Amino acid sequence: MKPAQLLWRLFEMDQEIQSVQQAIGEVRSKLGVSRPVQEARERLAEAERRLKRAQQQQSELDDELAQVTQKLAASEKALYEGQGRHPKELQSLQEEVTYLSRRSSRLQESLLEVMEGLEEARQEYQRAQELLASVEQEWRASQGALAQELEQLERRLGKLERRREDWASMLAPEHLRLYDELCQRKSTPLARLQNGICQACGIRLPVAEVQRARDTDELVYCSQCGRLLVAE
Ligand SMILES: [Zn+2]
Repeated sequence: MKPAQLLWRLFEMDQEIQSVQQAIGEVRSKLGVSRPVQEARERLAEAERRLKRAQQQQSELDDELAQVTQKLAASEKALYEGQGRHPKELQSLQEEVTYLSRRSSRLQESLLEVMEGLEEARQEYQRAQELLASVEQEWRASQGALAQELEQLERRLGKLERRREDWASMLAPEHLRLYDELCQRKSTPLARLQNGICQACGIRLPVAEVQRARDTDELVYCSQCGRLLVAE
């Protein structure tokens, strides 16, 4: 193999290593993050707040209604037992009974509304709980798959790096140094030479240069893009 071809093989390995490293970065960025779970938790917390509010309202109305019912019963009792009382006193008792009856029916109406709201809040709370459970399950499954993918990628990276090391150790030190220098200058410092054309920049090279790259061990560079040419 010509030096350029040896370096080309190293270059291919480096590109593969780079793409695996990139894939590892992508998987890592997905691990441990879940927007859907976060959103489902927020929805459940909101549903819980609503449910508690509705329960609180119901209990307040219940208490008030119990008080009014008690007062109403007492006033009605006093009214029915009050034959001997002063008419003015009876009239005021009657007014109180009327007032308390109205108050009682208004409270009952409010209570009905609150109970409807409470039922809705309960249903929403249950839906939010179910949603959270299902997205959490999905998330755990995907985390497992991602962790597995990461492990595979890291194993592959390890293998590639060992192979690259082996390959690099077989290259002449001066070629290895040159390769490192070229890589510092350009991210893709090598180019295939096919049918006399640099595959990186597309220029057609003089026949003499093509022959030099193809038939000798010399390192030939593209006259336009400066890349090290690797003949077929
Ligand atoms: Zn070129």
